[in-house]
Amino acid sequence: MKTIAIIGAGVTGVTTAWVLNQLGYKVTVFEKQRYPSVVTSYANGGQISASNAEVWNHFGTILKAASWLLKKDAPLKINYFPDWHKVSWACQFLMQTAHYKKNTIETTRMAIESRHQMKKIMDASGIEFDKSDCGILHVYNSQKEFEHAHKVNELLAAGGLQRQRLTSNEVSEIEPNLRKKFIGGYYTKTDSTGDIHKFTYNLAEVAKSKGVEFRLWTDVTNVQTINGQVNINFQPNQEEQQTDIFDGAVLCAGVASHHFSQKLGDRVNIYPVKGYSITIPLSDTKAQENAPNVSLLDDEAKIVTSRLGVDRFRVAGTAEIAGYNLDIEDARITPLKKWVEQNCSELPTKDLCPWAGLRPMRPNMLPLVARSKKPNIFYNTGHGHLGWTLACYTANMVGELIQNTEL
Ligand SMILES: Cc1cc2nc3c(=O)[nH]c(=O)nc-3n(C[C@H](O)[C@H](O)[C@H](O)COP(=O)(O)OP(=O)(O)OC[C@H]3O[C@@H](n4cnc5c(N)ncnc54)[C@H](O)[C@@H]3O)c2cc1C
Repeated sequence: MKTIAIIGAGVTGVTTAWVLNQLGYKVTVFEKQRYPSVVTSYANGGQISASNAEVWNHFGTILKAASWLLKKDAPLKINYFPDWHKVSWACQFLMQTAHYKKNTIETTRMAIESRHQMKKIMDASGIEFDKSDCGILHVYNSQKEFEHAHKVNELLAAGGLQRQRLTSNEVSEIEPNLRKKFIGGYYTKTDSTGDIHKFTYNLAEVAKSKGVEFRLWTDVTNVQTINGQVNINFQPNQEEQQTDIFDGAVLCAGVASHHFSQKLGDRVNIYPVKGYSITIPLSDTKAQENAPNVSLLDDEAKIVTSRLGVDRFRVAGTAEIAGYNLDIEDARITPLKKWVEQNCSELPTKDLCPWAGLRPMRPNMLPLVARSKKPNIFYNTGHGHLGWTLACYTANMVGELIQNTEL
């Protein structure tokens, strides 16, 4: 049986472990943290959303972003301290505007395919993760935004996604718990939501029972190919450095994949684009009745919401280009809280739980499934703002790539 090491137990690492185990490989997952799924795959927006497949490399989006730069509570914040990684990533991001249409269509296609792969994993594993097939409702405040949405809709349709265009009244009918009136919307009935942490953690548990080994609290310090085999150097918590040898390895290390790729001599430009979420406990019947059931995306505020089970409401958004920094800033949490107060005024915000995570973002905003220049090392990483949506599809892609490689 061929042996494969996976670096990282976020949603990409655990789905990859699952697929490779099903394909008959002996899989070992290395994870720096004490538990799977506690870094970026922890408290994200919850949306499994083909309808959010539009890449951000669009001139209109960039101009809008420029107008936000001086506002403390705007959806985008940039730390201007110059560093080479940030500058090179930003330049490549701008160059990708040429591929905006193609990349949006491709992301839509992958997201739709990922739904089928997720269903297969759910059926085979039996895991529970507060999944809801409630659909995703995009809402618009201005005519200009709504007109742009019509153009985006054509690209999503070219990728295979069917959506329903809504009037202001129809938006209120689909989600009566939205207090504010929006001018219109798009509803994607086939999109869904779920708790990424529960999915990944529970899938890791079932994978363990099927023979996948998890080495948690174990920091991988180097990955290299020696004589055609992959040496993993690692340091378990408070123990000595060790090395194990595998037939192959897959890098699923989220924002740390950039660092590994540099050591391997590959050019994988992944920047940590920070985002925030708040989780509001819906601890009584009144709060539960007043929380939106349908998942929302407010296009102007760039805020998404998801109902997670009966008693949690998640609100997420904002993008911050500020390096590897996980500080939770009040000025970035406030817009999320304000959004709830304005749009769902009956919801109690006093016990909200704030969180920040780093999206592993490539300049073209597409995930990377590829071989390293070094033999028998693979990447499944760089899923940016859509890792929850795309992970099940890319796990399958990397599985096929490895199957087609003579390890
Ligand atoms: C605010 C926010 C909202 C979001 N909302 C959505 C959404 O609604 N829908 C959606 O589809 N996506 C969303 N995303 C994106 C999605 O959450 C990410 O794309 C996804 O979680 C990335 O998963 P990953 O496995 O690549 O990374 P991670 O979950 O970060 O996993 C990487 C793992 O590698 C481990 N690791 C790193 N270095 C080492 C090492 N040296 N040794 C051992 N282990 C190591 C880390 O500890 C970590 O556990 C959101 C992201 C954010 C921040």
